[in-house]
Amino acid sequence: MSEIIDCPSPNHDERALPISVLVLHYTGMQDAEAAIARLTDPEGRVSSHYLVAEDGQLVRLVAEERRAWHAGKSFWRGITDVNSASIGIELANPGHEWGYRPFPEPQMDALLPLLADILDRHDIPRANVVGHSDVAPARKVDPGEYFDWERLGELGLALEIPAAKMNLFYDNPGAFYLAMERFGYDIIDGRAAVAAFQRRWRPSIVDGEIDGEIGGILFELLLERDIGRAR
Ligand SMILES: [Zn+2]
Repeated sequence: MSEIIDCPSPNHDERALPISVLVLHYTGMQDAEAAIARLTDPEGRVSSHYLVAEDGQLVRLVAEERRAWHAGKSFWRGITDVNSASIGIELANPGHEWGYRPFPEPQMDALLPLLADILDRHDIPRANVVGHSDVAPARKVDPGEYFDWERLGELGLALEIPAAKMNLFYDNPGAFYLAMERFGYDIIDGRAAVAAFQRRWRPSIVDGEIDGEIGGILFELLLERDIGRAR
């Protein structure tokens, strides 16, 4: 693993839950320096545990034992205090506001071993390796459709994206929402939840509309969990 620079942020407090989730973000700022300045500014009241710069530099902002303030109002698999249960990693990227672009190779090369190390040390279930958009669908779109979830899945660092073997149509939107909720999503804003699901599992079309392909993917994901192949 590459060397980690410490850049301590004052923005943290005590965890109320054990670590069981990992949340990936993009910074959505013009460059890593600006993002670090914000994530360490006491006025900003935001932080994350790590930041990965586009050149692959790893920065630690908050110790893993502490609760960093990255997820905001979020929900995942029954957890409402996602900050208490998670480790947050920010990937430097201007984001949709400043010119969203693919995550460069050196950045991914630095992220992957860090991720593997964290997941291993805390025994984090792969179904709990999520994007900010997965835990706050109505508010967030990061890390966005360029993030290579497929690669994480292939490396065993996240759930694999099921090769949707079939188109599956649910009886009505409500049935699909309930299945999404069972998988872990907050479905209060159903359309936003569907868009978040697409962004994570089938990023080629993100329109918030339920279709047969994502129906098939969700079915496979739940099946894998039910037969005990994923947790
Ligand atoms: Zn975020």
